[in-house]
Amino acid sequence: TFGDEEGEEGDWESRPPVVTVMGHVDHGKTKLLDAIRHANVVSKEAGGITQHIGAYQIVTELEHNERPITFIDTPGHESFTAMRARGAKVTDIVVLVVAADDGVMPQTVEALNHAQAAEVPIVVAVNKIDKEGANPAKIRQQLTEYGLVAEEYGGDTMFVDVSATTRQGLDELLTAILLTADASLDLRANTEQDPQGVVIEGKLDKGRGPVATVLVQRGTLRQGDSIVAGDAYGRVRSLLDEHGNKLKEALPSRPVQVVGLTSVPRAGDTFLVVEEDRTARQIADRRQARIRNAQNASMRKRISLEDLDAALKENRQLNLIIKGDNSGTVEALEEALMKIEVGDDISLRVIHRGVGGITKSDIDLALADDVIVLGFNVRAEGQATELANREGVDVRYYTVIYQAIDEIEAALKGMLKPEYEEVQLGTAEVREVFRVPKIGNVAGSLVRSGTIVRNSKARLLRDGNVVADNLTVESLRRFKDDATEVREGYECGIGLGSFNDIKAEDVIQTFEMREIPRV
Ligand code: GDP
Repeated sequence: TFGDEEGEEGDWESRPPVVTVMGHVDHGKTKLLDAIRHANVVSKEAGGITQHIGAYQIVTELEHNERPITFIDTPGHESFTAMRARGAKVTDIVVLVVAADDGVMPQTVEALNHAQAAEVPIVVAVNKIDKEGANPAKIRQQLTEYGLVAEEYGGDTMFVDVSATTRQGLDELLTAILLTADASLDLRANTEQDPQGVVIEGKLDKGRGPVATVLVQRGTLRQGDSIVAGDAYGRVRSLLDEHGNKLKEALPSRPVQVVGLTSVPRAGDTFLVVEEDRTARQIADRRQARIRNAQNASMRKRISLEDLDAALKENRQLNLIIKGDNSGTVEALEEALMKIEVGDDISLRVIHRGVGGITKSDIDLALADDVIVLGFNVRAEGQATELANREGVDVRYYTVIYQAIDEIEAALKGMLKPEYEEVQLGTAEVREVFRVPKIGNVAGSLVRSGTIVRNSKARLLRDGNVVADNLTVESLRRFKDDATEVREGYECGIGLGSFNDIKAEDVIQTFEMREIPRV
């Protein structure tokens, strides 16, 4: 959860939970969010019309305490996944909406997979209980298959029967959210840290210019702050809540509209506050450059098994999605994969499994988490292939289990960071520097120890200090001839590529990086 780094000084205060509502289409997510918005039992701005700004906060009562809850007002797992794909962790609790007259549907399963992959606790809202044919017991029954066992059945997931239409059960739902937060999360944030958070939504307003709804995650955001949000920057001209009220400051978990940015940031961008306007602009510029680079890079590069991204290596966890033609093969494959042994520091996790082709939603899920998608006797659907190609998601197809095992084992081994050691090759003392057309400066040198080897790594020392590292011996000559190596006691000409800052009496040290073999 965000904002809860330990060991920092300052004023640690509890913060409200941030909730995302997910579920199958037409199960009532939008209507439920509307109903909750109006269920603001302790609302001080009674009658205040809430505008859609991408998130809102309500205040409810629990054991005679006023307790705020923040809701992300864009239902569905698309935005949840998009945020996570961009590294933003916003949601503390997922409310999984299931229509009692319909039951668990494909998107219900997807939503709960997303929540479980993100390790976010789930509260189930069994909606539409006002309808004829509503069967809330059946929903509980169905969801046990996915590991969501209702408290009344001995599990630890809270199920609440609600109707977004009659508003029955809403208070119970809010209570369940708070109880779940209190039981499983320690939601605190430091209000004195430098303010930081995430952009929930951005738009260009005709009158006010770029407007961004941000969620403060730590610190206190104030009017007048210099802010960078994604690659946008500016001075906070005004802070507005969902009722259009002007705020002087916003505390953690508070969603606010920020007016005063120079451009519109994207959902999932992080924001931070800096001392000076100038710094804000510099950071924004740098981010713009980085975004351009990343876009170029992602077009060039597909994540491959051998070259899983650095982030993945740091996580030391390989995530998999397994899709197969029937549940038997999926299970068999998962079981076999789980038996791969690669040492304790790396783990293999299946974040989603299912029967059928690889869908766009599988790819979305993969994007959020650095995942390899395995298709066993199934293929990716058209849109999914397109998205996977565009975003460089690693999708692998197999028809035999052992082949899948071999490749995943190789991937896991590839995640072990290679360790290198520097092996000294030789040192040479520069006697005289010659300027050679087209080649640059060449150091006429005497090899003092070891061997100078062409194409090896080099560093330049002057009076014992390293002037330049990471150079390469690009040319090596003995008299007029090219040499591959020159030994101790001999003279040679050394060229260090485009590096020309060489002076008489400098010392050139050459070395190579050798991979330390693993045992
Ligand atoms: P979403 O696609 O999940 O956002 O679903 P909506 O909120 O748009 O709801 C889909 C339909 O179900 C709409 O016609 C709603 O009016 C209706 N609906 C939502 N909740 C309830 C409920 O609790 N009871 C009844 N009877 N209808 C509901």
